[in-house]
Amino acid sequence: MSSRKVDPRISDVRAYVIDSKGVGGDYHDRADGHWLVDGAISTPMSLYADYRRSRTSWGIAVLGSILVEIELEDRTVGIATGLGGEPACFLIEKHFKRFLVGSDCRDINRLWDQMYRASLPYGRKGLAPAAISVVDLALWDVVGKLRGEPVFNLIGGRVRDEIPAYMTGIRPDVARELGFWGAKVPLPISPAAGPEGMVRNVEALAEYRSMAGQDFPLMVDCYMSLDVPYAVELAARCRSKGVDVHWFEECLNPDDVDGHRLLKERAPLERWTTGEHEYTRYGFRELLRHRAVDILQPDVMWVGGLTELLRVSAMAAAYDVPVVPHGSGNYSYHFVVSQPHSPFVEYLNSSPGSDEVSPVFGGLFVDEAIPVNGKVRVSDAPGFGLELDRRAANLIRPYEA
Ligand SMILES: [Mg+2]
Repeated sequence: MSSRKVDPRISDVRAYVIDSKGVGGDYHDRADGHWLVDGAISTPMSLYADYRRSRTSWGIAVLGSILVEIELEDRTVGIATGLGGEPACFLIEKHFKRFLVGSDCRDINRLWDQMYRASLPYGRKGLAPAAISVVDLALWDVVGKLRGEPVFNLIGGRVRDEIPAYMTGIRPDVARELGFWGAKVPLPISPAAGPEGMVRNVEALAEYRSMAGQDFPLMVDCYMSLDVPYAVELAARCRSKGVDVHWFEECLNPDDVDGHRLLKERAPLERWTTGEHEYTRYGFRELLRHRAVDILQPDVMWVGGLTELLRVSAMAAAYDVPVVPHGSGNYSYHFVVSQPHSPFVEYLNSSPGSDEVSPVFGGLFVDEAIPVNGKVRVSDAPGFGLELDRRAANLIRPYEA
């Protein structure tokens, strides 16, 4: 036993901006040519020809990644990454820090509630819960480190030894070769391209299907770019051409919650999923009440962190709706390994051509878990099992207001 005195009070909170592309929690902060930004992907901005070619053209990663450190009086340090760039760092340093410094790091429910309530006048969705999320994840990390326990042991322990993963990218053939159970591809053409674009979409999905082969689940991510009639027609055309789609993801503007009821009503045989751009238990309550969404996909790094994800998850469990977080690397893995109704994880392929398995957070951490043979094993290392890679230390800079 160490004779070190354990003191759970928070002595300091530090927010850092990460300037290097491909490093940290902002998945889309990638170099030119990367499939995630320059691949053919239908987006809400595809309506405008000037912003159709690249997702960087309209600023998908304008905020960028951040890192938060929470240090205790006994020098234990918790860390977490997420997105939000300088604006999120501003909120953490100028607003949320007052609730944290001097508090017992184990009082996560109170700290979460104070950050959330205090940011209600300007927050609720988007940037504010994203900033709260990174603080929340750093709190769980430091509590885990304080207790010498992995986070999943603090939220109920394991329900499985390894987690099957599906791979998101543009190479469903590679996903199959590497042992993933399925592949998710982006819908390439926006509805702005009209009826001819619809035909090209079905052709493109047929091509992805032939790359994947038969009897291998293929999912389609529509990234908020469709409306109800387009999504229903796309699903019907795929079905009539024999292009088997396992689920259609995030077809609608996230504010069109009622639209999901219509999707399920008009195409009940399809699986419809969404949630990666929804926030807090209040947003997910609306998605659950019509029983129209087949899988909820909150992102741990912006839904409100692990604390709020557990509340979303409890609600979803009462509807028997699986919760499979969007991306989120280790944060998602610790959650999923502990939840009976979270049967698998997403592995967002972060290599430029989506053909190699590499760390989601781009070398920011040592020991980030990555899938092996399409499965993720979660280590027993304390916290989220993430330590800052010394080589990444020069990629982060303290935020100065
Ligand atoms: Mg998605």
